[in-house]
Amino acid sequence: MAIDKARLIEVVQNAGKSLTLQRCLIIETLAASKLPMSAYKLRDQINITQQNLNISTVYRVLDFWIGLGLIHKIESANRFMVCSDEHRHQFHVIQTCTQCENVRESCELASQITMQISHEFRALENQVIEIQGTCSDCQVNTDS
Ligand SMILES: [Zn+2]
Ligand SMILES: [Zn+2]
Repeated sequence: MAIDKARLIEVVQNAGKSLTLQRCLIIETLAASKLPMSAYKLRDQINITQQNLNISTVYRVLDFWIGLGLIHKIESANRFMVCSDEHRHQFHVIQTCTQCENVRESCELASQITMQISHEFRALENQVIEIQGTCSDCQVNTDS
């Protein structure tokens, strides 16, 4: 997935922060990965070609992006992914395949939950809702 740099800059500036080299490096490396990555794998990937990032820096930068809703933590797998929903819904709904570890972020489900939730209950921003199951590719493989 290619990352929209203009949008990144906009979100970071709206939050009153700046886009540092490390922040850029981490979100771009994660965006280039097909599957969600652990913090350690992300660090190793970056350190092949770049500066020596230590793991606490990686976690700190991940937390920065998680706070802005541009990176999500997949709790069940302890891995990280770049948000693929450009509509900035209040919620992020992620379907994770327990067999191939593939993830799919559903903009459709996120907007439905946002519409359905009661106005009496004011939900926090940027919550990740994770749904575990089997993706369509893996369903085909087990059926045959
Ligand atoms: Zn998202
Ligand atoms: Zn799968």
